[in-house]
Amino acid sequence: MWLDFCLFVLLLGLFFFVFVSSAITRIHKVYLIFHFQIMLWPLCKFGVSTTTDPVLQMLYIKIAYISLSLIGLGWLVFALFLTGQSYKLDRRFRLVLAAATSITVLAAAFNPSGLFVSPRLGNYVEHDVGPLFWLLVGMLLAYGAVSLKLMLGTLRVHTAPVHRKQVRMALSGMLVFSLFAVTDLLFNVIWVDNFPLIPGLTSLGMTVAAVYFVIAIHKYRIFDVVRLAQLNVLDSMSMGVAVLDEHEVVLEANKALQRYFDIRTGDRFPVEKLLASHGDVSTAELFLANIRTAFDQPVQQEIACRSNEGLRYYSVRCEPVIDRWMLIGRVLTFQDVTEYKELMMASAEQNKMLAERNEELTVIQQELFSANQKLEHLAVTDGLTGCFNRRYLMQQLEHEMIANARYRIPFAIFLFDIDLFKSINDTYGHLVGDEVIKSTAEAVKKSLRRTDILARYGGEEFTVYLPHTTMEQAVILAERVKAAVASNLIHTGPGSEPVNITISMGVLAAHHDQPVRIEDTKQYLKELFHKVDTALYEAKKRGRNRIVSVEPAS
Ligand code: GH3
Ligand code: MG
Ligand code: MG
Repeated sequence: MWLDFCLFVLLLGLFFFVFVSSAITRIHKVYLIFHFQIMLWPLCKFGVSTTTDPVLQMLYIKIAYISLSLIGLGWLVFALFLTGQSYKLDRRFRLVLAAATSITVLAAAFNPSGLFVSPRLGNYVEHDVGPLFWLLVGMLLAYGAVSLKLMLGTLRVHTAPVHRKQVRMALSGMLVFSLFAVTDLLFNVIWVDNFPLIPGLTSLGMTVAAVYFVIAIHKYRIFDVVRLAQLNVLDSMSMGVAVLDEHEVVLEANKALQRYFDIRTGDRFPVEKLLASHGDVSTAELFLANIRTAFDQPVQQEIACRSNEGLRYYSVRCEPVIDRWMLIGRVLTFQDVTEYKELMMASAEQNKMLAERNEELTVIQQELFSANQKLEHLAVTDGLTGCFNRRYLMQQLEHEMIANARYRIPFAIFLFDIDLFKSINDTYGHLVGDEVIKSTAEAVKKSLRRTDILARYGGEEFTVYLPHTTMEQAVILAERVKAAVASNLIHTGPGSEPVNITISMGVLAAHHDQPVRIEDTKQYLKELFHKVDTALYEAKKRGRNRIVSVEPAS
């Protein structure tokens, strides 16, 4: 009688040891409830033997058998979780288990017409069992058989070494418990009349099993604080993390993952289901192929999933967990990058718009530039002849004169006028007159140097600025120009004879012996042009088609 009580005290001690030595989490609570159920059995057995009151004895017996029914159920659920098959606990299966357990619990609680147990010799220390008791035994055997099958099945397929150890430990605990329970059943129930009563067999089995569990808990650090800290870190992460074994069964899933999936430890991770909603099937298939073939490489993929909130983008990374060149699991991280993606797309769109706008601006800028160039050209050229206008030449000369005077650079200026041009106009008309002016300008341009500047001075008068030119060079060039004009034949129209004209020219060449400081450039230029104009007038006076040269000092 005291054996049961001692075992109860031992179990209670273990209960408190676990309670005190570990931080309390849900997994602890599950274990503690299970442990507490185990404890009830020896306690009640002890209770029965402490009283002679059949009613009280009956109560203890009932509690003992109710706890036994619940232990069977608890064991099966525990085995399902341990073997990573909690996904099998769907609604239907849960209902079946609840119904089966309720029957045995109710049978033990009400003991209808003594069909569960009946007193022997007027008390329940020794009792006869009825068909409902055998129903409970059958149920326990069924639970045990299913659990055994689950665990042996897990050991047969190749799982992670740590997991195998856990399953093996649980299996040993269960076998020890079963051995004691079956012995108890055989000797104390079936062959009760042939053998003396052996007390406390089932209680002993339960205790040995519980000791096994406690060792497992501590040896494999199931309730370890470091592990709890790791879980806390995992839970505080914004990205979803799932640790899978090599069969893609979830060993761990953090809180963030629950936002995306209704997934629990023990479920198979629905990689296919997840990728099935992916818009681009070929990319999804590639991802699956990669994680299954290139198992030693991390695989990262961005996938688009259709959800109630529209299209969402996830960045999924699959990192293999390798132990001694063997894949023992995977870490799957899952991050919602929709907002980032949308921002990227918006900024890409904006960039595109900006690039287009930029292009338009560049085109406008180019148009403006060429319009400006045209305007600049128009502002400095003469419309009829295309050579520079008088204003431009004067502006240029203002700068040139200062430099020429300071550095004693020689220069020359031509001023020429077409001879008897009025008669051309009168004979051939103004249009031909224009053509003559144009053609003369072209002929002059051809006979000048690249650095010389030809400008239309007004009407049929032109001027040429010749930088770095002495009087000798200027006279030679003036003769060349005069000859070029004289030999230039201008077509006046179909059937008409071509005409040629002559020019009269004033040539001015300046060369300062000493550096000179020009006070008023405009006035200086005015004087120069007056001189060259006088020379031109002189040329006209002397009979035209000639050159008269002059020097500023003269
Ligand atoms: P001279 O030898 O003395 O210079 O005799 P000229 O007939 O050429 O006399 P002048 O130079 O004084 O006459 C210039 C004429 O040229 C007056 C004007 O009608 C004409 N003329 C001026 N500009 C233009 C022009 O752009 N086109 C045409 N067709 N004729 C012009
Ligand atoms: Mg003239
Ligand atoms: Mg004239």
